[in-house]
Amino acid sequence: MKIDCSHQHILVTGGTRGIGAAITRTLVECGATVIAHYNRNEESAQKLKKELGSSIHLIKADLSGAMEVARLFSETLEYFDGRLDGIVNNAGIALSSDINKNAIEWTDDWLKTMDVNVNAVGLLCKRSVVQFQKQENGGRIVNISSRAAFRGDTADYLAYATSKGAVVSLTKSIARAFGKQNIKAFTVAPGFVRTDMAQPFIDQYGEGFALDDIALTKLTEPEDVSPTIAMLISGLMDHATGTTIDINAGSYVH
Ligand code: NAD
Repeated sequence: MKIDCSHQHILVTGGTRGIGAAITRTLVECGATVIAHYNRNEESAQKLKKELGSSIHLIKADLSGAMEVARLFSETLEYFDGRLDGIVNNAGIALSSDINKNAIEWTDDWLKTMDVNVNAVGLLCKRSVVQFQKQENGGRIVNISSRAAFRGDTADYLAYATSKGAVVSLTKSIARAFGKQNIKAFTVAPGFVRTDMAQPFIDQYGEGFALDDIALTKLTEPEDVSPTIAMLISGLMDHATGTTIDINAGSYVH
């Protein structure tokens, strides 16, 4: 059996680099047309556009503010002529915030994290659900959380782990509340994946430290995560709606 996403209109946030770029590539390979959202990195966005051509369309937006989030959704619908089949909420930030920072700075890091990792995801899910309710075929949501939501994280990443936990509850609630309207929602929870986000950790602790933490012999790459997302978007896993799929190389089995 082949993973088939043909004729699907999909929005992937943060879809031009790291895990998001792998998701965009895999969805296109499976036949989808993708809006690859990006924020600041024009170069990686244009590079991916050159590689994938008319199968993708780029939209730039800073998801730390609600107005930009709303604009991204409206432009997405406009580009897709009013039909959206799925959204992958992949964009996220992991700010390191020392517990000994003063309260103002620490709260600033906390709020920035929530803006991108929770508030933007919440609003994009809300807009998607309302759109899917108007469509006979409903739609699918895949939210990228993290192992940190379940295992917890280190002292500097309290906000990050909290934000990723919120994403899990949001996804489960959507799955339970809107399943009868043909709307499905899934969480994917990666462990350590070799991307720009993970690089500071590798620089600080070394690759060996990350390797010792997992059960497999090599670190997870973005391409080890993206096939699962295509499978979820394809509809093959609809009866697993509400579930979380761990992709953490056996580093946290629960
Ligand atoms: P990355 O830093 O390479 O990519 C993050 C993406 O989020 C980028 O495309 C970036 O443009 C986007 N983004 C960040 N801030 C934004 C903002 N203000 N507005 C709009 N877009 C913004 O990291 P990645 O590892 O590819 O992360 C992708 C997702 O996977 C994130 O949600 C992350 O939390 C999650 N994740 C990553 C790891 C890991 O080890 N790399 C582990 C677990 C979960």
